[in-house]
Amino acid sequence: MRKKIVAGNWKMNKTLPEGIELVKEIKELITKKPASDVTVILAPPFIHLTEVNKFVDNKQMFLSAQNCASEASGAYTGEVSAQMIKSVGASYVIIGHSERRGYYHEDNAILAKKVNLALENGLSPIFCCGENLAERESGKFFDVIKKELAESLFGLNKDALLKVVIAYEPIWAIGTGKTASPDQAQEIHQFIRGLLTEKYGRELSENISILYGGSCNAKNAKELFSNHDVDGGLIGGASLKPQDFLQIIHSF
Ligand code: PEP
Repeated sequence: MRKKIVAGNWKMNKTLPEGIELVKEIKELITKKPASDVTVILAPPFIHLTEVNKFVDNKQMFLSAQNCASEASGAYTGEVSAQMIKSVGASYVIIGHSERRGYYHEDNAILAKKVNLALENGLSPIFCCGENLAERESGKFFDVIKKELAESLFGLNKDALLKVVIAYEPIWAIGTGKTASPDQAQEIHQFIRGLLTEKYGRELSENISILYGGSCNAKNAKELFSNHDVDGGLIGGASLKPQDFLQIIHSF
């Protein structure tokens, strides 16, 4: 059974008091209007994790970090390890977001290390993949996605892979207001599920949630989530607006 998931990536937004206000509002809205079959994940900045965790019940709402270090521990100034993230109550960690790949040059090999460390420390990776505009326009996107998955995830055994959530995030749609059409999203999600089936079998592929991310909002979420292989969304901008986020949670 694939979980329906809506994950909010706050990115580098909100001071601590603003973050607490945001999680309080989200929690209040969900309590008033529950969506019991949807897993809601909040990914605030690292330094907010402990405080935000106080509002997370680990039944419907779960905590995620936005990144983790590619090393286990030691002299890596400024880094935050998977073990540390687990120790403050998080269950998930976003790995391979295109902003990390682009601005901080995280390649598939580094991301494979992060995925392994997350899993070793009891965190579920939310693994992001997706093509940029040039790759979309030149038709290379299937190859790009296949390579990202093969080099960062496909070294895992079945049990480990079952703990991973995949997010398809076309880079040209992130924060741009341009959304993949429902058909474009379904095409790629089906392709990803096909790769999982090829490599690990249908039973596994039918149990992995594949989220769509890229300007998903309160208006377009329903249409995107109605696709057979779209199991929810990784939401950036709209996750900072509690009412919109709630509407997205109720878009299945
Ligand atoms: C994201 O950051 O993963 C994302 C999808 O952002 P946005 O929803 O703002 O496009």
